[in-house]
Amino acid sequence: MNSANHHTLIWLLDSQLAPHVDAFMLHLLDCRYASNTVNNYLAGLTHFAHWVSQCNIDVKSLDETLIQQFLDDHLPRCNCEKPVFHDRKDLHAALGHLLVLLRANGVIADLSIGLTPVDEELRRFDDHMNHVRGLAPKTRKHYLAIIRRLLLRQFADQPVVISTLKPDDIRKFVACQSDLCRVTASISAPISALRGYFRYRATLGDRVHQLVGVTSFPANWQQATLPKTLSNNEIERLLAALEYVGTAARRTAAIVHCALDLGLRSSEIANLGLDDIDAYSD
Ligand SMILES: [Zn+2]
Repeated sequence: MNSANHHTLIWLLDSQLAPHVDAFMLHLLDCRYASNTVNNYLAGLTHFAHWVSQCNIDVKSLDETLIQQFLDDHLPRCNCEKPVFHDRKDLHAALGHLLVLLRANGVIADLSIGLTPVDEELRRFDDHMNHVRGLAPKTRKHYLAIIRRLLLRQFADQPVVISTLKPDDIRKFVACQSDLCRVTASISAPISALRGYFRYRATLGDRVHQLVGVTSFPANWQQATLPKTLSNNEIERLLAALEYVGTAARRTAAIVHCALDLGLRSSEIANLGLDDIDAYSD
């Protein structure tokens, strides 16, 4: 490693990846890489370790999706203290070796194993995004990575019980995401993913008003303050005030429910058309 990278080496040694550095180096030597390449890969691992620490990612949850997130989301906006290793091709290769090594040592799950409750939940959500909402593969992958982090953080390997999620859990999760996003615009991705996920859960009949409320004000969200949501009491009063007799009253009720139950923005509600509504027949 060249001297320019010495100050960042502490990132690696302070990270959860520290216990795996020796094995990583031995693995690269086994692969008979030139010393220059080994140095580059180690510098790449250092950068990645810093990101993992910043994002509070558990080393046991590392996988291809998270690495893709690092390469696609962090790298283009990287604001880490320089000098930092930035070559995408080498980073991709180095982190591929890291996964091989972590799998070989039983630190992370094998690729073929993906049957935890969180994995199953993500598969169902992906089906919904694919078949109901028709989202592009890249968007789905991105959303899945974000929701995966939320669910792992909340439920680890336990069943996913949405009713146990509290607005404060979501606020904390969003705050953690916004710490990672140094430009305001990039906060919109986690917010969109959360809104999409809660919208999906609403279609399953979950009561997610409060959770949706936390993600209701993403436009030009400033990182310094987190959005406020209606309290339980305020929601009860709002719902109690609704009337369902007469077209105007029913229209008003429908608008309120679109905002509360589905988390739609006012502009989205105003532009709703018949094509936006899926007709299910049992
Ligand atoms: Zn960086």
